[in-house]
Amino acid sequence: MDKAESKEMVLRGISGAPGICIGKAYLVDREGVDLIKRYAIVERDIPAEVNRFKNAVKKAKDELKAVVESLGEDFSSQVDILETHLVLFKDKLLYGKTIDSITQEKINAEWALKKVTRQVKNMFQRMEDDYLKSRVADISQVSEQIMRQLMGAQDIKISDIRMRVILVAHDLSPADTSQIQLEHIKGFVTDRGGRDSHTSIIAKSLNIPAVTGLGTATVNVQNDDILIVDGSTGQLIINPEEDTLFRYEERRARYEQYRALITRESHLPSVTLDGHAMKLMANIELVEEVVSVRDNVAHGIGLFRTEFIYIDQKRFPTEEELFDRYREAVELMTPQPVTIRTLDINGDKVLPYFKNIGEENPALGLRAVRFSLQRPEIFLTQIRAILRAAAFGNIRLLIPMITCVEEIIEVRKLLDRAIMDLTNEEMVFNKDIPLGIMIEVPSAAIMADELAKHVDFFSIGTNDLIQYSLAIDRNNRQVAHLYRPLNPAVLRLIKMVVDAAHRQNIIVTICGEMAGDPVNVPVLMGLGFTELSMNPGSIPVIKQVIRKLNYQNVCKTAKTVLSMDNTEEIYRFVQATYKDILE
Ligand code: PEP
Ligand code: MG
Repeated sequence: MDKAESKEMVLRGISGAPGICIGKAYLVDREGVDLIKRYAIVERDIPAEVNRFKNAVKKAKDELKAVVESLGEDFSSQVDILETHLVLFKDKLLYGKTIDSITQEKINAEWALKKVTRQVKNMFQRMEDDYLKSRVADISQVSEQIMRQLMGAQDIKISDIRMRVILVAHDLSPADTSQIQLEHIKGFVTDRGGRDSHTSIIAKSLNIPAVTGLGTATVNVQNDDILIVDGSTGQLIINPEEDTLFRYEERRARYEQYRALITRESHLPSVTLDGHAMKLMANIELVEEVVSVRDNVAHGIGLFRTEFIYIDQKRFPTEEELFDRYREAVELMTPQPVTIRTLDINGDKVLPYFKNIGEENPALGLRAVRFSLQRPEIFLTQIRAILRAAAFGNIRLLIPMITCVEEIIEVRKLLDRAIMDLTNEEMVFNKDIPLGIMIEVPSAAIMADELAKHVDFFSIGTNDLIQYSLAIDRNNRQVAHLYRPLNPAVLRLIKMVVDAAHRQNIIVTICGEMAGDPVNVPVLMGLGFTELSMNPGSIPVIKQVIRKLNYQNVCKTAKTVLSMDNTEEIYRFVQATYKDILE
């Protein structure tokens, strides 16, 4: 479409992170974030282009060999997979055909590889044999590794974008999003994505507006189109008319004034009108966010999603690297607590160097503590680093995705082993740290009374508890409308966990995204939480809400909603009851 004729268009998606931004569109590749361009090459440059491809293959292969060598015997299944990859690098199909394509079609190596990968994948997908079919994932991964080398970067190149733009992508993984540089990216929109996906969570941490689940953003937007991203309402406006632009400029200014105002009041206490005090903690992904935690005056860190340290690397980090990061966070926050959650990878958080081959249902797969227990060496490295950092401040240890008592017992065994080893090695560390578990799977909520006997605290992860109890993929836009934290089943599960924790006399907190949404706060407080953990940016708003609430009233509200059976009615009831506060 000719730009001069382009008409204003509004697309509705899912609010990923609040705020409004206005700027030019920058489309990333429609099939993912690889920014691959096609260009023609002249005859005499063909040998150089082929060599560039061969060098990239060699480098990718060398890198993989180094990973294989560093893995050792405990990783025999992973080594097998990676060895298959090593063979695939020189496979006739991928290697040979890409060279043919460069030579015959006179195109750049990136484009040739992309094209050949698609052909080879299609070919394998059509095969009858299930084993051969499952090789598709291997081919993609090998191709990606070569592509990264070709493009001269270790990873996807969002970090290389040097213009003040709004990213438009089919999908962004949590790893892609964590590369966003604030001085260059104003906001982003994606076709895919559901509610409380990790991609949205990172957008909130970065404080940039985002809309996900738009379905056709990459089809309707062209590079350099003017966009308005309204992350608060989940709307994308493409090529706005002048008066729309004017209206949104005003709205943006008002939103920013409001943010500035409430942030200035962040130091005020989070105590209700009738004197009930709440602790507001922050969720972080990286140590760098501690600054924002302090700016927003949190009472500590309620959730440190440590997997992002792993995602940002080329291999599993060493104990020393982890120790340095944890120690830094702890020292910056001392004397306030830092809740370090052990590795929660897989699901939608895939490590570039450890792809979980062949999982049809990654959210139900080898995720979180399941991975840690299957790879004790990796887990031990992490808990040793945590125990050592605990000598420098106040740490709570949190284990993700526990589903049964046996897993806690296994974790304790490994914890004891780490303590024994550190003692024998005469290391400085602190073994007296509270051990807690995330309650984010229905089986854990059902068994809460029993689990509570084995741990010091619970942290309810509602992002996953909603996903697993209501059977709603948190990354799927098709079912995002069903993903509602005030669903009565979710509230009753939460109530069960809170009651079990109180009966067993252990602390219970909540760290899912629902804790950072004002409408949920009266209900959560009434259910008995005294500590809420959320994105640091939400703390000022939630503090302000708490200061206007009356504890006696929220207890009554919780009682009423627990007797209700209809999600929409619960929302309407809470909104009507707290109309003046929630406006
Ligand atoms: C949760 O599931 O609610 C949670 C806090 O963990 P994550 O969002 O990292 O899965
Ligand atoms: Mg979770």
